[in-house]
Amino acid sequence: MWIDSHCHLNHERFDGVAPHALADEAVEQGVDTIVTICCRIADEFPQILKIARTHPNVWCSIGTHPHDAGKPEEQAITLETLIDLAGSDPKIVGIGESGLDFYYDYSPRDAQEKSFRKHIRACIATDLPLIVHARDADELCAQILREEGADGKLRGVMHCFSSGPQLAKAALDLGFYISFSGIITFKNAHELQNMAKDVPLDRILVETDAPFLAPIPYRGQINRPAYVKHTGEFLANLLGQDTQGFASRTSENFYRLFSKAKPA
Ligand SMILES: [Zn+2]
Ligand SMILES: [Zn+2]
Repeated sequence: MWIDSHCHLNHERFDGVAPHALADEAVEQGVDTIVTICCRIADEFPQILKIARTHPNVWCSIGTHPHDAGKPEEQAITLETLIDLAGSDPKIVGIGESGLDFYYDYSPRDAQEKSFRKHIRACIATDLPLIVHARDADELCAQILREEGADGKLRGVMHCFSSGPQLAKAALDLGFYISFSGIITFKNAHELQNMAKDVPLDRILVETDAPFLAPIPYRGQINRPAYVKHTGEFLANLLGQDTQGFASRTSENFYRLFSKAKPA
């Protein structure tokens, strides 16, 4: 059984396919646990929590995506409110996705940084894991994680990892996990594939980030949580691991990090 540690079941790109249908399809195909990730607390979180509460195999996060960090309604959510909301339901297993995206720069960089630090502090206060989104911001991302996580209480995952080896090292040194998406299956992903070989097996997670980034053989199509097994099988092969053993290992890693989540 595989776990999709990161997807967006409520995303409009699924074009009318209901979150429950996507989750049921995944379970039928051997993906028995799914985390649906929050990008906007103000307008999206209630819907996401509802999906998680009504599907036994689905868990969720709470947080503001760096793309949305400049929105006034997200900035209005204080650290105290974030802490309260994050602890308000057993189905909320992590905080994020938060971080820095200096590739798209959809929100001002100072707003992204402020939001990122708020999320990290909420993680430390609640002992929930942080789900980090980092793109083209390796140095500052590593610096903030080191500063805010200096006391060793911060736990988390670098989701859809596609950054450089320095950020991977900084994250691993802090005890973080590295999650690979369909990107790792792409033919031109040599650097990422080489880097994956240096990540300890007890720190690897897999995810789809569906509806985005479908793995080969579905590249270019709408991604679905069920497809996580293609990424998992590719990684197992790449790392010289037996597929079933690798699926169990990544699942154990998942439950160690997302310790509020329990197998359905
Ligand atoms: Zn992301
Ligand atoms: Zn995402």
